[in-house]
Order: sequence, then C-alpha cells, then structure tokens
Amino acid sequence: MKDNIKDNIYEDTDVIVCGGGPAGVAAAIAAARAGVRTRLIEMQGCLGGIWTSGLMSWILDCDNKPGIMKEIIEKLEQRGAGRKARAKAFICDPEEVKLLLEEMCVEAGVGIRLYTMVTGARKSGLDDNKRISCITTESKSGRQQWKAKVYIDCTGDGDLCAAAGCGFDIGKPVTGEMQPMSLIAIIGGVDPESVRAFDNSLPYLEDRTAKQNFLEELRRAGVEPSYTAPSLFHVRGDLFIVMLNHEYGYSGINAGHLTEATIEARTELHKMIKALRGLGGIWENAGIIYTAPMIGVREGRRIHGRYSVTLDDITNGFSHDDSVCKVTLE
Ligand SMILES: Cc1cc2nc3c(=O)[nH]c(=O)nc-3n(C[C@H](O)[C@H](O)[C@H](O)COP(=O)(O)OP(=O)(O)OC[C@H]3O[C@@H](n4cnc5c(N)ncnc54)[C@H](O)[C@@H]3O)c2cc1C
Repeated sequence: MKDNIKDNIYEDTDVIVCGGGPAGVAAAIAAARAGVRTRLIEMQGCLGGIWTSGLMSWILDCDNKPGIMKEIIEKLEQRGAGRKARAKAFICDPEEVKLLLEEMCVEAGVGIRLYTMVTGARKSGLDDNKRISCITTESKSGRQQWKAKVYIDCTGDGDLCAAAGCGFDIGKPVTGEMQPMSLIAIIGGVDPESVRAFDNSLPYLEDRTAKQNFLEELRRAGVEPSYTAPSLFHVRGDLFIVMLNHEYGYSGINAGHLTEATIEARTELHKMIKALRGLGGIWENAGIIYTAPMIGVREGRRIHGRYSVTLDDITNGFSHDDSVCKVTLE
C-alpha cells in the first residue's frame, strides 16, 4: 500500500464499526446515539450476523440483558415477530430482524455500508505504531480507504485486529482444533402441534429433551445427523429453524475450509429433511425453504486483549469492574 494516503480516503468519520452482527449493530447504535458520526461496514447483504445471515435467531441468555438487547426484543415482540421461549431464550423471525436492525441504525444516524469486506489496516506511526490511521475495504466499488478516530472490531473473527497486527490465539492450545461449524436452515410445511415433542423452543413435555426426541425421529427415518443434539425451533406459521449438522476439522478463517464445510453441510441438510419427508405423516410436506447464506462459525481468532479471562475466573465467578453484562447458563 502507498504511504501517501491523504487524498485517497473515501470517508473520514468519528467511529467505524467493522461487522454488523449483534455486537456491531449495538456498538454502532450506541455510538451514533452518543452524537458521533458512525459508519457500520458489513460484508453480507443485511445486518444481524448469526441472527440473520446465519439464520440462528434463537437468542440465548437474553432475558437479563438491559440496553439495546432489551430494546430489540421488546420491538420484535410488539411486531409479533418473536416470542420469549424455553430457557429464558427468545426466538424470532430472521427476516423481521433484518428490517428492524436497519430501521434502528438509520434512526440513530448510523451510516450503513453493506456488501463491503474489511480487508486491511494501516498504522499511523503514532504511539509506537499501535494506532490505526485508516482501514481498507473491498467491494463492488473496488478498494477503498476509510478513516476514523475510533475503530471497533465486531467481525466475530477479529479480522480488523489481525490486519492491524494484534496477537491472537486460535483453536485448542495444542492441536489448534476449532469448534465445529453449522449451516442452519429454515424448513416449512410442518404443523407446529404435530411436532410439539421435537420443538426445542417450548418447555419439554417429559423428562426427555426435544433434542433427544428429534434425534430418535431422524434415526427412525434412517439417518444419523452429524450433530447428535439436533434442534428444531418453531419460528411462525409452519416455519421452523433446524440445526442438524456439525462440520469438524475446518477453520473459520480459511475460505477454502468455509466452502467445503458449507457444501458438505448443505448436502447433509437436504438428505436429512428428505429422509424425514420419507416418513410421511406429520413430515409429508416438510421441505427446506432456505439454507443460510453464511455458515455458522462458532470460533474465530481470540484476540489478545489487556486481560485474558481464565478458567479460575469462570469457576470462581470472578466479577470485573469494567464488565458490561452478566452471562448465565441454563
Ligand atoms: C452455529 C452457531 C450456533 C449458535 N447458537 C447460538 C444459540 O443458539 N443462541 C445464541 O444466543 N447464540 C448462539 N451462537 C453464538 C452467537 O452466534 C454469537 O454469540 C454471536 O453471533 C456473536 O455476535 P457477533 O456480532 O460478535 O458476531 P456475528 O454474529 O458472527 O457477526 C459478525 C458480523 O461481521 C461480519 N463480518 C465478518 N468479517 C467481516 C469483515 N472482514 N468485514 C465486514 N464484515 C465482516 C459478518 O458478516 C457478520 O455479520 C451460535 C453460533 C453459531 C456459529
């Protein structure tokens, strides 16, 4: 990259948020509401990350969150686009989430840029070369450079931090193995009452979980899912979210791996739903409406921050003065 960047800056603003998933949208709205010029850059064609592009709109542990999370949930409930569910979770319609997040960002004054990937960071030479002077994006508009006073990395993978030279860990300490990926799908043609025993969004009927029942049902159909806790979540009408697959041995920061995992997962999803349909009865009209445009990556880079949470911190319930929210497990 050339050093003389002054005249090549596409936009000069106060805050740039990279990645428009749940974290990025909240960061951008909060910044804009605080009165600073804010740009949100997202590589997919919508905001929402895993909730929308990933189709996993089953939001765990959201019941005790104040602030923007609470606002989003209340607004979705008012629109009839989501409902409180089992285990203090919230299930919502991914399409409605896309619309709401865009509306909230526009209302707050966030400048949204979709279809644009953050690909690089240039350092200024200030503070021992630790400051970013501008970032680079790639899109249909070509390569562009953007400048801000503050940059926030919400890519989920730490793309911006890595580009800026921050240290990071990836995978398990010895093997480097990463958590499996899952491609989520929306299926239709299923009557909610008939599949009540398999619906993971509702309270369990007996001492067996909905996931156990669903696994047994898939086995009855003659198939074995790669995810042994397959999940079905009722969204609305006859539409359900399904998570059936776990793709092991792939890295979320390797485009070749992402491609292979997606192709493998989509093949499995179609096979599973076809097998269920083959059972007839309550499944006779079941079909995939849509597979997620983005495979769900559970684990990206773990950027070295000023402090690393340890196992002891977790087991001892250590609380930090600068904590932003509580995390609880079912
Ligand atoms: C398969 C799977 C199942 C999960 N199940 C649940 C669940 O049941 N309930 C639950 O509450 N949580 C679940 N999670 C966890 C949840 O996804 C994360 O906690 C949440 O997504 C974190 O939000 P985020 O905004 O940090 O990241 P993400 O949602 O990943 O958003 C990151 C955004 O940044 C964009 N982006 C990435 N790189 C770039 C780049 N270089 N330039 C521009 N944009 C970029 C992406 O397109 C995306 O929109 C699951 C995760 C996965 C993968």
